Amino acid sequence: MLELEEALARILATIPSLTLERVPLDQAHGRVLAETILSPIDLPIFDNSSMDGYAVRAGDVTSAKPDSPVCLRLAGKAAAGEAYDGEVEPKTCVRLFTGAPLPRGADAVVMQEDTRVESNRLAEIHVLEPVKPWENVRFRGEDVKRGAPLACAGDLLATGAISLLAATGWTEVMVGRRPSVGLLATGSELREPGQALAPGQIYESNRIALAALVRRAGGLPTAFPLVPDALADTRMALTEALARSDLLVTSGGVSVGEMDFLKQAFAEIGGELRFWKVAIKPGRPFVFGRTKDKFLFGLPGNPVSALVTFVLLVRPALLRWQGAQDAGLASYPGVLAEPMNNPGERRHFMRVRVDAVGKIHSTGTQASHILNSLAVANGLIDVPPRTTLPAGTNVQVIRWE
Ligand code: AMP
Ligand code: MG
Repeated sequence: MLELEEALARILATIPSLTLERVPLDQAHGRVLAETILSPIDLPIFDNSSMDGYAVRAGDVTSAKPDSPVCLRLAGKAAAGEAYDGEVEPKTCVRLFTGAPLPRGADAVVMQEDTRVESNRLAEIHVLEPVKPWENVRFRGEDVKRGAPLACAGDLLATGAISLLAATGWTEVMVGRRPSVGLLATGSELREPGQALAPGQIYESNRIALAALVRRAGGLPTAFPLVPDALADTRMALTEALARSDLLVTSGGVSVGEMDFLKQAFAEIGGELRFWKVAIKPGRPFVFGRTKDKFLFGLPGNPVSALVTFVLLVRPALLRWQGAQDAGLASYPGVLAEPMNNPGERRHFMRVRVDAVGKIHSTGTQASHILNSLAVANGLIDVPPRTTLPAGTNVQVIRWE
């Protein structure tokens, strides 16, 4: 049996280098950057005011007090988007609005709240408080210097990075292409939700869950028709789906039952197959294969096993396919609110719910056919074999949403 990390390393080592495309920045969220991007400008681009107020020479107002204000002559104004051309001479000031460039000569901004203006003498500004030199001034380049890296190749572009790229003038970025991901569900017992069920039949629920996870990992999912447990049908379905996908994710048909045709069908259409028993629960049987530049991930059919193996082994592969540097499992620290017990021989990825203060609760029965404890879960914790983690243990939670 293979350790999870070994299986993941083997998969990631096989995933090819990415194919690229240029996308408008407004479509870049959640995409993997394929280039390191440098700032073409200083940010802020110019020294500017962080307040609505008056540009002054700080030395002019050192003695200002509410009961003995310093009176300055108003020489002009600059709203955001404007610039005051002249220089701020001694004993004068210039009205500024937040974001307006600091005029030459000025070395501070007195905020409006620290001034008084008489309605019949609008050109005289009474300053009620002193300011320190450079108070209320945002400096050119204090955020980002021209030429500094804004984001690196392999980064997953999050909201903040996109904001920064836009703020430095970028309109397009080079990213990894989104893989098309085919989804196949095998099993003669499966019917589409909404159809009538004959005795022994069940509703198929893996493709819809996997499609959601694929989308979250940047892929473009396509669900293909249900595949009955028969060799020829499986072969045909694989051929068709592989032709139309970069990666194919199947569920069911990978255990050792005599009705499990996936491996044989894949081999018969020329697929190069790796079949592993990965030492995890749920989800021991797992198929990984390739045909030329296409990849197959054969997940177990049990819905919980399918989801867990997807999160642990397929999602990283989708991210790596798009060029992600950090394709590993995202996990966050938390504290167990109750003990979690794994009496078994394999690592058990248990369904948990992390509450708003980071306390981790079991979501109930952990058997791999129990969907109800999956539905309320928002994470998994990795409980080692023959181990009880007591309440209060600090653990990492793997999150998939
Ligand atoms: P298998 O891996 O094909 O042996 O399936 C294991 C269990 O999961 C069986 O109880 C199947 O009926 C069930 N199962 C397999 N595929 C699906 C699916 N797509 N949706 C819901 N249940 C499934
Ligand atoms: Mg089956």
